[in-house]
Amino acid sequence: MRPSLRIEEIAERIKSALPQERDRFGLHEPLFVGHERDYVLDCIDTGWVSSVGSYVTKFEQLLGEYTGVPYVIATVNGTAALHIALKLAGVEVNDEVLLPTLTFIATANAITYCGAIPHFVDSATDTLGIDPLKLGHYLEEIVDLNNGICVNRITGRRIKAVVPMHTFGHPVDMDRLSAVCNRFGLEIVEDAAEALGSMYHGKHVGQEGRLSVLSFNGNKIVTTGGGGAILTSDETLARHAKHLTTTAKVQHAWEFIHDEVGYNYRLPNINAALGCAQMEQLDKFIINKRELTGSYKQALQGVEGISLFLESPETRSNYWLQTLLIDEAYVEQRDELLQALNNRGIGSRPVWRPIHELEMYKHCPKMDLTTAVSLSKRIVNIPSSVFL
Ligand SMILES: *Cc1c(COP(=O)(O)O)cnc(C)c1O
Repeated sequence: MRPSLRIEEIAERIKSALPQERDRFGLHEPLFVGHERDYVLDCIDTGWVSSVGSYVTKFEQLLGEYTGVPYVIATVNGTAALHIALKLAGVEVNDEVLLPTLTFIATANAITYCGAIPHFVDSATDTLGIDPLKLGHYLEEIVDLNNGICVNRITGRRIKAVVPMHTFGHPVDMDRLSAVCNRFGLEIVEDAAEALGSMYHGKHVGQEGRLSVLSFNGNKIVTTGGGGAILTSDETLARHAKHLTTTAKVQHAWEFIHDEVGYNYRLPNINAALGCAQMEQLDKFIINKRELTGSYKQALQGVEGISLFLESPETRSNYWLQTLLIDEAYVEQRDELLQALNNRGIGSRPVWRPIHELEMYKHCPKMDLTTAVSLSKRIVNIPSSVFL
């Protein structure tokens, strides 16, 4: 007989870790208890709501201080930030870009916006992100290095970059990934959209590659309503990022002169105002999230068939989304578990469909994706809001 999950008990235990005074819990709801109202009202009162105003610069400064990355360019969302970061990394039409198949669709879409081709990589069970060892072995088999240029022997296309994504705030094994990238001449563009506040070997994520991006969508740990940012250690890239995200307009007192095809990707001041207020509370948000992990851990101790996913040694996760892993033997019951949790007001969701399985991406190049596919059937996210 196939073993079965004790779904009632799991639901009760999860509920016991949550505040007893509420009976419905979203997966991730924003919290506005700081200066959000004051700063947004300030934008309205002064009329500075759109493309000019001081909150954008202030928000960029706060992010720079927090992450330790010297240059920050705020954008209208995280997908736009990824698009520009990939262009700045030198990704061109018909290049291939490596990315995990287990990520939010934006990672693949941004590659496609550049006219490049996503090339899917497997995940590691200990980080939920790109498996650098497996990637290294794979590249060994399929690429030629021609004068430092990495060429896919099968497709004949250049492989230009890798986009590691820090899943739910858990940092990728960046030391190993960097070693692979150095060996094969690949640029790193970190998709740190979910990982503001996460640390790898004592340093904030996003410091490893020359370029990384954040998102401030409504469900992220810090929100601006919608928003994103490009982070870089390179001053020239930073200047170009600002230029490209602001329609490539040349500074002039009155003339409209644009010197390349730019984008209207600038973050509006009113959104940045919200972001400034949220940043003032980020440390507290992370403490709360880590405490919630502790409560879930205690509540779920010894339950058969599922485990709470915890950060790897030498990393500090922001625990953006709290994550259950269902043991392989019980995967058939995932939807039953999701149904039971949601019926009880415990907002729970499966992880994304692996992107290589989606219609528009199923013809893209890929390596063996066994672990990612397995993880995609086993991950369930449970309520993760910062006020729980
Ligand atoms: C949220 C997110 C993004 C960016 O999303 P936007 O909604 O465009 O800000 C990109 N990648 C990942 C992995 C994300 O979770």
